Amino acid sequence: MKVFSGARREAGSRGGEDKVRLVMLGPPGSGKGTQGEKLSDRYKIPLLSSGDILRAAVRAGTEVGKKAEAYLSRGELVPDGVIVDVMTVRLKEADCKNGYILDGFPRTAGQANALGGFLKNNGLKLDAVVNLIVADSELVGRLSARRQCSKCSAVYHLQFRPSAKQGVCDKCGSALYQRDDDKEETIKNRLTLYKKETAPLIDYYKGMLINIEGKGNGSEIFERICSLIERK
Ligand code: AMP
Repeated sequence: MKVFSGARREAGSRGGEDKVRLVMLGPPGSGKGTQGEKLSDRYKIPLLSSGDILRAAVRAGTEVGKKAEAYLSRGELVPDGVIVDVMTVRLKEADCKNGYILDGFPRTAGQANALGGFLKNNGLKLDAVVNLIVADSELVGRLSARRQCSKCSAVYHLQFRPSAKQGVCDKCGSALYQRDDDKEETIKNRLTLYKKETAPLIDYYKGMLINIEGKGNGSEIFERICSLIERK
């Protein structure tokens, strides 16, 4: 499998010209969003976070938001039918024509099959699945200290990635908050669900998997991911 064909590689520097479709896989708190954001900047393709899309729907009070709200607050998965509809609508938007990075979707075998069907029907393929590996003990610490911007969804960590001014987003100046599902009881549910429903996708995607140790310096992890993607 070639993520970047020779022709595309010659077409220009890494970035705007390359079409690439990636899935970020890994438990909650493994850094999918953080690394996905960096990949989105580097390859100039949108990062589509299913969690951010659902939280925005809840805030806006849409039909999807009303269906999803209780699941989100309990740290449970919204039904496959709901999230598959939301994501396939999003994937048809104009900014997805040069590729995208999926963060948080698919999360079950049913969703992976639905995504596969959608791609096939549109003559498209995934290029790689980045699997971030982080121990549970580390994840609980990361998630309980995570704070997120209420407006632009930027993510901080109280200790390791604090905002310059406490409680205020560096990027847009809006208030930071702790997600309901980042509280300790809910974190445990989410990790259990990850193991049961999402971890089997590691095997499902084994032919296109890029396994990355997700502990340590974020910039180094990012460079490792890029070099493995570009070697594909
Ligand atoms: P995340 O921001 O990815 O941690 O997602 C937050 C919450 O949104 C999850 O705990 C689920 O309730 C819901 N969610 C996000 N993505 C999915 C998905 N692919 N399938 C089902 N529920 C999802």
